[in-house]
Amino acid sequence: MRITETKKITDFFGCYVFNDSVMKKYLTEDAYNELREVIDRDKVLEKDLASKVAEAMKEWSVELGATHYTHWFQPLTGTTAEKHDSFISVDKQGKISLEFTGSNLRKGEADASSFPSGGIRATFEARGYTAWDCSSPAFIKKSKDGSAVLCIPTAFCSYTGEALDKKTPLLKSMDAVSRQGVRLLKLLGVDARKVVANVGGEQEYFLIDKNDYDKRYDLEFTGRTLFGAMPPKGQEKNDQYYATIRDRVAGFMADLNEELWKLGIPAKTQHNEVAPAQHELAPIFCQANIATDQNQLIMETMKKVADNHGLACLLHEKPFAGINGSGKHANYSLSTDSGVNLLKPGSNPAENKVFLLFFLAVIAGVDEYYDLLRMSCSSLGNDCRLGGNEAPPSIISVFIGEDMQNLLDDIVEGHTIASATKQYINMGVNYVARPKRDTSDRNRTSPFAFTGNKFEFRMVGSSATLSTPTMVMNIMTAEMLSRIADRLEKADKKKLDKEILQTIKDLYQRHKRIIFNGNNYSHEWEREAHRRGLDAATNAVDAYDALTKEKNMEVFQKHGVLSIKEMESRRYIYIDNYIKSAKIEAETMLLMLNKQILPAALKWQYKLAKEITKVKEISPIYVYTSEKLLERVSDLIGDLSADMRRLKGAKESALAFRDMHKQAIVFRDRVLTLMAHLRDTSDKLEEIMPKDLWPFPTYADILFYE
Ligand code: ADP
Ligand code: MG
Repeated sequence: MRITETKKITDFFGCYVFNDSVMKKYLTEDAYNELREVIDRDKVLEKDLASKVAEAMKEWSVELGATHYTHWFQPLTGTTAEKHDSFISVDKQGKISLEFTGSNLRKGEADASSFPSGGIRATFEARGYTAWDCSSPAFIKKSKDGSAVLCIPTAFCSYTGEALDKKTPLLKSMDAVSRQGVRLLKLLGVDARKVVANVGGEQEYFLIDKNDYDKRYDLEFTGRTLFGAMPPKGQEKNDQYYATIRDRVAGFMADLNEELWKLGIPAKTQHNEVAPAQHELAPIFCQANIATDQNQLIMETMKKVADNHGLACLLHEKPFAGINGSGKHANYSLSTDSGVNLLKPGSNPAENKVFLLFFLAVIAGVDEYYDLLRMSCSSLGNDCRLGGNEAPPSIISVFIGEDMQNLLDDIVEGHTIASATKQYINMGVNYVARPKRDTSDRNRTSPFAFTGNKFEFRMVGSSATLSTPTMVMNIMTAEMLSRIADRLEKADKKKLDKEILQTIKDLYQRHKRIIFNGNNYSHEWEREAHRRGLDAATNAVDAYDALTKEKNMEVFQKHGVLSIKEMESRRYIYIDNYIKSAKIEAETMLLMLNKQILPAALKWQYKLAKEITKVKEISPIYVYTSEKLLERVSDLIGDLSADMRRLKGAKESALAFRDMHKQAIVFRDRVLTLMAHLRDTSDKLEEIMPKDLWPFPTYADILFYE
């Protein structure tokens, strides 16, 4: 029975989270106040307090059935990692007790040798350390059978202090944007202690029947189908988007929501997406590092709950060719510690200096560092999706809507800020309503859209972590804020307003080329973008180069987010991961061809030949169609086996290179091209083969399940 049948959401929301009310209950008032200072004011968690908090966490989690604790971290594999330790401790007399100390809480030691480090970690020094990110609350992970583990969200670094994870640079980038944001706000006369980066991550996914999933090696090993002819009906009738949610899926969603609510994740919106069997979930946004942790838990919980329902949840960016893939929209905004959204235009945007400067800082950041943004959402999986006339193209631009653009144009054309406002008022337009109406998510083709009071970065892949794109958005914005602050700091205080106006004009004029409000899928835009000098990498291998460009290394150094060594190692890890994923795909393809597709085709070929002989005994005029089919299937078999040999050869020749970048290029240019060929041939075969002979579930079976 579902909890919501007997309890209100408010009664169980966050019941597995060491949240504020739990802290209040399990800590003394002094300890509680001290911990709040640590969380809210970034104070250091001292030893004494850590012991008290650890004791409280232990008591609380044991009451809820926890037997183990783990530092929960995000290595560079892009997933999460955990190693469970039980609370058990044995004294000299052999008596056992439950123990969880302050140092257990603050710091953990993990063998880092099996996590990717990109050459940072010397083989003789395998130790890695995990340290609690106090701002992200601890939680309990409960399995279906009741076992429970206390999870402490942590950062992960090497013995020598280099980041080996995705959280550390994210936290550093949040500090950077906060530092620069506070600096600029001060110049503008706004008092803020902190500027907080907020993220709301919309998560798209596919749900299919587990029985179908289990019958497909490609889904199991690569997360996507490597074969599959299109059924007569795909998504062309647009009858899936926002359609009534079928009972089986609704049951899954209800259980998923409950699990997320228990973990304190405010799951809010759910609906069917464009492709058949595709859905979306969006939680309410929050501070970026917490949103990132929550998104990891959302993906994990989706898979777990799907399994309980006899379903499989696919998070790959393009599980099915020919229909839409899945993305993850990273909605991004900046607010003060008291909750004022700095990207909110307000009732009078033309006079809202704070808004205009922060708004333009993000836009300018995209323009200056679009190669980093492109890098931040690149993977082999997302290469299958971006630019496919369903997802944003590889070219990065910013949609701000006509109203915002008119406003900026007016300011530049010499109207003072005040008269620009007046003009809008004189036009009798209620400007407040306009950005809401016009700019909120109406241009779905834009990769980076201003949607009223936040920017929505839509290129992120569905399986990716939010940490890298958010880190890049923070850094690029921090850098532009810092340049603006530098300029205003130098200005004569009496002429500050004039300098602000000039800064706004200059920023807009200088970075205007990145703004595009039209159809991003069109070929005209491709040409126009090229004319504007906005050429972005068209694939992940090229996109990763952004990590080692001097200009980008400089900005990471300047804001203390990643060292040159760390950036180089990340590029290495991403390329390595690209190669490994491509190799697995090629090998899975060969496996399916060798073990399933070719044997089935040969069987049919034999069957046809036998039938032809038999029918010919009756009359040769009846065998025309069968003979044509036999010819066709034999041709396709021939094509397949020739391409299989080529694919094997290409894969081997790629792996023969010592240089990783060269390997990746051969995989991208030769291996993937041959795979596309093989798929095409096999899909032709599938189209003509009898259903009962085809060796695994087809798109029609998978996408339109009961
Ligand atoms: P859409 O039109 O794209 O569906 P929604 O308004 O439903 O947009 O929001 C989508 C996501 O954006 C949600 O996760 C929501 O919480 C988040 N979001 C809303 N406001 C902000 C904000 N100020 N900063 C960051 N994320 C936000
Ligand atoms: Mg959206």
